[in-house]
This record gives sequence, structure tokens and C-alpha cells, in this order.
Amino acid sequence: MAAERGIPQSIVDEIKNRNDIVAVVEQYVRLSKRSAANLFGLCPFHSENTPSFSVAPEKQIYYCFGCHKGGDVIHFIMDIEKVGYLDALRLLADRAGVHIPEPEDAGYRKRAERETLLYKINAAAAAHFYLNLTESPKGKAASAYLARRGITGGTIRKFGLGFAADDWEDLWKRLRNKGFDAEVLSGSGLFRQGRDGPYDLFRNRIMFPIFDALGRVVAFGGRVMDDSQPKYINSPESAVYTKGRHLYALNFAKKSKEGSLIIVEGYMDAIAMHQAGVENAVAALGTALTTSQAQLARRYTENVIVGFDADASGQEAALRSLDILVSKGCHVTVLQIPDGKDPDEYIRRNGADRFHDLVKRALPLMDYKLLSVERKSTRDGDLDILDYQDVACKVLAAEPNPIIRELYAAKVADKLGVPSEAVVREIERRRKGVEQAAGQGTLRDRLAQRQTGEPQEPAKPFPEDPLFLLCLIASSPELADRMRISPEPEDFPEGVIRDMAVAVLARDERAGAGLSGLIGLAGDADWHGRRIADEAARMSFEIDAMGDLSAIEEAANSYLSRVRKDRLVARKAAIVAWIAAGGEGADKMEMKEELLDIDVQLRQFRG
Ligand SMILES: [Zn+2]
Repeated sequence: MAAERGIPQSIVDEIKNRNDIVAVVEQYVRLSKRSAANLFGLCPFHSENTPSFSVAPEKQIYYCFGCHKGGDVIHFIMDIEKVGYLDALRLLADRAGVHIPEPEDAGYRKRAERETLLYKINAAAAAHFYLNLTESPKGKAASAYLARRGITGGTIRKFGLGFAADDWEDLWKRLRNKGFDAEVLSGSGLFRQGRDGPYDLFRNRIMFPIFDALGRVVAFGGRVMDDSQPKYINSPESAVYTKGRHLYALNFAKKSKEGSLIIVEGYMDAIAMHQAGVENAVAALGTALTTSQAQLARRYTENVIVGFDADASGQEAALRSLDILVSKGCHVTVLQIPDGKDPDEYIRRNGADRFHDLVKRALPLMDYKLLSVERKSTRDGDLDILDYQDVACKVLAAEPNPIIRELYAAKVADKLGVPSEAVVREIERRRKGVEQAAGQGTLRDRLAQRQTGEPQEPAKPFPEDPLFLLCLIASSPELADRMRISPEPEDFPEGVIRDMAVAVLARDERAGAGLSGLIGLAGDADWHGRRIADEAARMSFEIDAMGDLSAIEEAANSYLSRVRKDRLVARKAAIVAWIAAGGEGADKMEMKEELLDIDVQLRQFRG
């Protein structure tokens, strides 16, 4: 939440108050009035012909009934400008002329100054490497090398490629001459400390500046031009660079109109793809994606095509990365490059058009998984049927969508030469295990999904959903006062929803703006918080449509008594277990008293 990120809540509130959601949305979407309360327009987040994107001026929220995106004015800017929470706040602050105070803390200011200086040093180093490559005789061999690999002058300029001279002090002297402080330079990651002083880390290498999503140079990668080792070296971590946090070329790919990202392994792959006109390519700069990279990708798109190298280690890395991407809510397909080539090599040999065809034919996730199973179960050209059926059924049993399960069961059956019912039966038998492991009951399933952040269908309304109850209370605070059991924070699942409940029930100022305030609390850059914001926006539109709330008031009451009863029963079981395990001392008396108290309360529920 904003307050925890150094911006006082009062400023966040002021920014929201001074940015009317209708005025902000109308800068991007033409809205028209279709119902008494709400405005509608064509959704800017998915393509459609009839408007399903709605804005509720009174509540200061939006929701799309087509693609289920929703939230407050800050979420809207995050979605449409593809920026994080803080950047969205800054944009809105600028728009309304609200001044965001810099944190007073001296440590913070020092850190910020140091970061600014590091960006300047990196930019100066990148400019030096670029001039070495393009204008200096030192860079002759390097530019010949890049030309041999088919890299054009335009690409060199776009990606700021450069050359680190075969010299121990070339960059050091240059940056010292530009007036950078020796001590700051030493900590920049561009130099190493030798006996006779600092020396250049990158020597006789082609240089790839690594940009962050905003286009600032945060680090470098350097590649040799011959067979010497190591082939690549990278900048160490610094105040502006953490490994596994960035996607190379995202600063360019985020502008592409494809609505998807293609994630490949190395710089050269991403660069070759951009040059071939595949402008949504980014590189992971490693053999597997990290969770933060998956999160970063998800901030830009739901659709991710993974194009890791097709060698053995590449396949393993791709499999791990796929699961990480799916867990962050991405829809994933996998690029199949024939003959184990990487994208760079494939484009050089076959041209851009053939590569575009490969992108179009990227395999759906389940096809790819089953293909990997098949490859692993094939020995000397023969499919090991027993091994294949076992792993394939396991993979299918883990798939939550029953239609996909059935579709692919038929394919697996075909391969095995058995009737498809036999495979379906086996999958369903194994699924029982999966479902038991995941816990039973719709509520627990859904909560578990929320907590693990797995993609889900929009939730069914009340009475099974605590978030719905929370939206209800935020829409109509009198309802909470009227309820037979008055809701407490503990009645809501731990995590984001519990935090929201605390604020709503306390009529906290943070939830002061009613639903828009509540949705603001659902969180920011975090995908999981966003899902909750989307759902809360949808539910509040539903509650609106209901008009008369007395019909669901009874449902709210019985839901809450069920939750309360479950909690008492669980507590009772814990105390009984504690006593059975030999719990003694003064605590034992207290526990016994609590037990009596619980029994009294439980009797009331029965009555
Ligand atoms: Zn939409």
C-alpha cells in the first residue's frame, strides 16, 4: 500500500480526489451514458464492437464486463499506461498539479542521489563503448564481426551496442576525464580493483547495454568475438541492477502492438528478432525465468510466448519457466524452433518470414507439455508406452479445465492405441487425488486459488464469497450494523482481504471513499492484489444492479454464522488436542474455561 511505500495516504487521497475518474478515462475512451448511474464505452484493454467497459462516477471505479479488468483511477492509469503503482500516482499527481513531497529521510536522499549518479555513469560508459565501435579504429574488428552476424547499423544504434577496447584503462580514463569521482566509479560495477588501482572489467568485448523498462542503462553484458572463455560476462549487481529483475529489450517491446511478449534466452536472439520485425521480443538473460521477471511480463500482457533454446537444458528451463508464468496469470504458448536452433541462428538461416510463421504456430501449453513427455519417453526411436501413459495422465490430471482434459485425453489415447474413455477414466481417478490435496468445498478452493494467485473464473456471487460480503458492507455500511452477528476482521481470510476488512469495518479513513477506497486498498503492482481489485469492482456493479439489498441480507447473515461456527469448531479441536497432548499448568484452566465458552456459543448457533 502507498503509505508503506513512502507516500502519505493523505497525498494519495488528494491525488484521487483531484482526478475524477470520468475525466481521466475520457482522455482515452469515448464514454456515453447508458444507465442512470453509469457510463459505458469501448474497452481500451480488449477489442470489442459493443461497449462493455463501464465507469461509475459516483463510486469512482471502472469495470469491463468483457475482459474483467477493473479498479479505481490509479489502476486505470497502471493498466493503460503500463506503469507500476508509484508511476501511476506520479502521472496523476502531475495531471492534477499535486506535489508529492520527497521523503525527508537523509538515508533515502543519499540513496536516490547515488542511483542518479550510477545511471549517469552507465549512460556515459554506453556512449563511450558505442563511439569505440562506430567511430574509432579500435572497434574495426568488432564492427566487422557484427556485420558478419548480419547486425545492421540501425540495430547497433537502436540497442546502443558498443565495443570495450582491448585495454586495461580505456573506460576508466575516459570517465575520470569526464569528471566522475574515482570512489563512485569504483563502486559502479564497471571496474575491478587491482594491485595498482582500478582496471576495466570489460576488455575486448562487444558490449550490450541492459536497459530497464524506462530505457535507462542499468548494467552491461560483454561478449567475446572468438572462442575464448567466458563467452559472456555481465555487470555485478548494483544499486540500480538486480539480477533476474529485468527483461532485456522490454523498453522497446512494451511499445509493440502485438498484445503479447515473446521471451527468449539471450541478447542476440532478442536483437535478431527485433531486426527481423518481431518487435515484441524480450530476453530473460538467463536459462530460466525468475518470479519477478514473470511478474514484470504480466504487467505488460497476459499472452506470453516462450522461445527458449531447444537444446536439452533449454527444454528444462522452458518447463520451469512455463509454470512460473502460469502461476502469475499468463496465458502461455511455446515456440518450436526446428533442429534445435536458437532464434538468432534460425532467422539468419531462414529469414524473417519463416520465423514469423513459427511464431504463429507456437504450441499451446498442453501440447507442448505432452510433446515433452513423449520426447522423454522415447528411447532409440521407440515410445515407451507404460512410461508415456503414466506421465501423460499425471500432466493431464493436474489441468484444472475439464474440457482441456477431455480434449487431450483423446490425443493421448490415440497415441496409446486405446479407447479414449479409458484415458479419461484414469485421469479422473487421479484427479480425485489432486482435488483432495487442494482441499474441498467451493469456498476453500476459491480462497486457496486467491492465495496462490492462480487464474480463475470470476467468482460466483454471495453467499460463498467473503470478498462479496466486504463489498456489500462497503457499499452499505448500515448493513453491517443491522446484521445479526456483526462482522469482525477475523471472519475474513488472512491476507489482502483481511487488511481490507480491517479498514472497512473500522470505517477507517483509508476506506473513506467507499468502494473506490476499498478497491484502492486491494493493492497495487502486485498481480494478486489486482485480481482482487478487478473482482471487487465487478461485484460492486452487481450489487448496484440488485438495487434492493434486503434479499441478500439473510444470505449474508447465514454465511457469517457458518464462518463463525467453523472457526469455533476449529478452535475447540485445537484446545482438545492441546489437552490430549498433556498440556498442563495455569494455561490448562484457561483453556478449559475457553472450551466451556465455546460450547455456549456453539449451542447458540444450533438454537
Ligand atoms: Zn475489456
